[in-house]
Amino acid sequence: MLSPAAWATKTRLEISEVATADGSVAVIPVGSIEQHGHHLPVATDTFLADAVSHHGAERVIDDFPILVTPPVWTGYSPHHMSLGGTLTVELTDLLDVLTHLAESAIEHGFDAICFVNGHGGNASLVDNTVSVIGKEHSEVEVTGVTYFSLAASFIDNIRESELGGMAHGGEFETSLMLHLYPELVKEDAPAEYLEDPYDHGGKDLVEGGPLSSYRPFEDFSDSGAIGDPSLASAEKGEEIMSRLGDELETIFQQIHDEAK
Ligand SMILES: [Zn+2]
Repeated sequence: MLSPAAWATKTRLEISEVATADGSVAVIPVGSIEQHGHHLPVATDTFLADAVSHHGAERVIDDFPILVTPPVWTGYSPHHMSLGGTLTVELTDLLDVLTHLAESAIEHGFDAICFVNGHGGNASLVDNTVSVIGKEHSEVEVTGVTYFSLAASFIDNIRESELGGMAHGGEFETSLMLHLYPELVKEDAPAEYLEDPYDHGGKDLVEGGPLSSYRPFEDFSDSGAIGDPSLASAEKGEEIMSRLGDELETIFQQIHDEAK
């Protein structure tokens, strides 16, 4: 994405100027290349992590030094491999990549790192990576967030689907993609709800229980998606993006305050 905060569009001197300013923040979006059913492209998580990162950074770029790196497109997705289209790496590979990217930014002078993750399968790893880097670099503010978790505080005002409708490729992600990349969304995707045997299982991206379990994805879904994309709309996507921007604006501001 080309935005005023895009690391990829800067020269080395421009990046150095941002990095060495007081309280500088490097945002690293983290996605995946993972099948999302018949109606969404495999880079959905990468596109969305990148887009929300820029959306948040653009709101504060006039107030303090911040850049967004190109998104890490490799994720941890072994449970999607059998359906095709997915590229996965090992958990430790991803830990190494995220650590080395953050340490590169730290070496250039950034005072804070924020991973913005867009893939559920990466979430616990991103949290642990924050601890690994933070322990080694106590002088740097190291943080991470899985962006769709930020929607829990406002999503009930937007969603029409019941619990489970905003899972993998459901009402939530499809709405965001219709808002950002409508040309990449195929029409007429049916609702497919997860039949989770556990009352405490995680049924939804945004809400749901805390119990983890493992099954290959074809056990969950015929299409490869879970949730209700038929309820998605570009208008909902715009509203969700705007509210996520509010949350990230607050987070980036507070990270800067801690880092300076
Ligand atoms: Zn996704």
